[in-house]
Amino acid sequence: EHLTNMIAAGEVVERPAGIVKECVENSIDAGARVIDIEAFQGGIERLIITDDGSGMDPQDASMAFMRHATSKLSTEEGLFNIQTMGFRGEALPSIASVAHVRLETNDGRQGTMIEYDYGQLVREESGHFPKGTSITISGLFLKTPARFKHLKSVSYEFSIIADLINKMALSHPEIRFTLSHEGRVVFQTAGNGSLQEILYQMYGREVAKEAIPFQGQNEDFKITGYAVQPKINRATKYFMFITMNSRLIRSIPIQKAILDAYGSYLPSQRFPIVVLDIQTDAQLVDVNVHPNKWEIRLSKQNELLELIKTTLVSALSQSLR
Ligand code: ADP
Ligand code: MG
Repeated sequence: EHLTNMIAAGEVVERPAGIVKECVENSIDAGARVIDIEAFQGGIERLIITDDGSGMDPQDASMAFMRHATSKLSTEEGLFNIQTMGFRGEALPSIASVAHVRLETNDGRQGTMIEYDYGQLVREESGHFPKGTSITISGLFLKTPARFKHLKSVSYEFSIIADLINKMALSHPEIRFTLSHEGRVVFQTAGNGSLQEILYQMYGREVAKEAIPFQGQNEDFKITGYAVQPKINRATKYFMFITMNSRLIRSIPIQKAILDAYGSYLPSQRFPIVVLDIQTDAQLVDVNVHPNKWEIRLSKQNELLELIKTTLVSALSQSLR
């Protein structure tokens, strides 16, 4: 079983950001309103993810490290509809097979601490912890040198974590995220539900102030979001954050539609910053195109692209008047 865990770890955890993603998704699934992510040495040396979610009772806590011990629904065909983001119960066992992991959790009744060392259970006892869960992952890949070698520089590994947390904050504006590196807070959101506030945390006051809210609708789609006026934004690359039914997606045709809409409004060397949420009937969407579930296929794609273009063009042109 240890070997299976290590093989799975290759897919689930390639780098610190992958671990952060799994742990933060678990925190979100557990109903957390506050999630803290602390990284040291780009997460290579140590990662601490702490939430104020449901916590686990002692039995759930030890089960969490068993393969396929997921407490969540995971039917293949229902993937796009399920509320919880986690699936398949592979993350924690995989992580515990390639690092030192310490879990502290409290379900509001009792506290439990479990420690794993490269696949071996080393400690399991009760203790006093705040309600919620805190997981510390240290010494990542120290016993798998081939994996360790694939890690890049501290700043690169941290930048991937930071990018991920930006996106998670945008998909969950109601959660208060705090990200720190080497003990210094580098990103924090208010958790007050405002996307504009998150843009402010990401890009500063000027950009957030000039973010133009837009919304549009046709028979099948409803779109809402913010488009940052290109004159103001000094972004050095484009940022298009697209969610469909509150789930992060990647779509080249949609990105193209956004770029098209910005068209002549975009001075050279300037890039759009757009946050776009699309609400639609799940029946129109096929997400199982790519295993990472980001790539989607739509049966009424052209209709959607047209809606995006016209809505954005009208928002941008009004703001320039
Ligand atoms: P999955 O998320 O697919 O169920 P994981 O390996 O990520 O599998 O987690 C295993 C189980 O551990 C989860 O189903 C959940 O019951 C529990 N768990 C993990 N992290 C947390 C957390 N932060 N808060 C509460 N429960 C958690
Ligand atoms: Mg999970």
